[in-house]
Amino acid sequence: MASSGHVATLFEPLAGGKVRCTACARYCAIPEGSHGFCFVRKNVGGELRLLSYGKVAALQVDPVEKKPLSHFHPGSRVLSIGTVGCNWRCQYCQNAEISQEQVVSGRSMSPSSAVDAALRLECQGITFTYNEPTIFIEYALDVIREARGHGLFANFVTNGYMTPEAVDLLGPYLNAVSVDFKGSGEPGFMRRYITAKGPDPILSTMVGLQKRGVHVEVTDLIVPEVGDDVEALRTLARYVRDHLGAQTPFHLLRWHPDYKMLDLPQTPVKTLERLHAVAKEEGLEYVYLGNVWGHPLEHTYCPKCGEIVVERYGFFIRDWRLDAENRCQRCRHPIPIVGRLPEEYEPTFASPVN
Ligand code: SF4
Repeated sequence: MASSGHVATLFEPLAGGKVRCTACARYCAIPEGSHGFCFVRKNVGGELRLLSYGKVAALQVDPVEKKPLSHFHPGSRVLSIGTVGCNWRCQYCQNAEISQEQVVSGRSMSPSSAVDAALRLECQGITFTYNEPTIFIEYALDVIREARGHGLFANFVTNGYMTPEAVDLLGPYLNAVSVDFKGSGEPGFMRRYITAKGPDPILSTMVGLQKRGVHVEVTDLIVPEVGDDVEALRTLARYVRDHLGAQTPFHLLRWHPDYKMLDLPQTPVKTLERLHAVAKEEGLEYVYLGNVWGHPLEHTYCPKCGEIVVERYGFFIRDWRLDAENRCQRCRHPIPIVGRLPEEYEPTFASPVN
């Protein structure tokens, strides 16, 4: 791929040779010769170019449960693809070595090569993850179009800070998305720790994608002391209930110190349990704790009779107690899971692809 990258789809010309990027909610106005906030979208001669097109910085086979998607093709294997750059500046980023990189690097991988790799590695889907996929949406879309022809599903792990233009472009192609809130999207937390104005674009993205038929799961990374506000969580849970539905899977994730935030402890499990109770009080039916392997709130419970219907351990499924139509075996209540655990299910252990 030439160093000048690939012509972007999502931009519009402005006066004086500038362009406005319309991929993410920052809507960067970029002068000729300059990059946007994410460093991978550059104005070259009045045209926006995606410099990271086909430049894969991270490639790994993962279980879909790691994304986390708990109600979408359980037990499947996905090829996870990440590039460099990000439209956020999370102070505790776990992937800072690629997401905060300002020089484009990575192995060259055309859309057809990515799909070939997924098939060769016996994956059922492709996930765009590790850094924010919205910033490389044109590459992701080309991979997804190719993948569909081979029966593979595609999902984004995204901060959701997209534009309506990006949602329109992506919606018809994407199968599933996990939308990652941080600190429940509380605006003060977002401004201070991730350099984003507030949650409104994220809320619109998840509703817009769901309207276009995309399976949506919501995650909320709970940072102790500074991003664990009960009322912020309550507000988010209510929004999810009222705009996406009470059956939307909602994951509360345990945080650990990383990158520039090394002075706080891991999120106490009691904090997660308290917030879990709040989300349930607000009527969400499928609330999970994540990054707390072995905790009973990892499992899927039937909201009608309370039975464990999917017993989980971290990213793995230990027992599947749903009938052939994904109903609780005990009370026949339908559980909204897309797909079924394969008969020949074998746990997938995350492994980098060489
Ligand atoms: S994707 Fe990058 S260039 Fe485009 S608006 Fe967002 S940060 Fe700016």
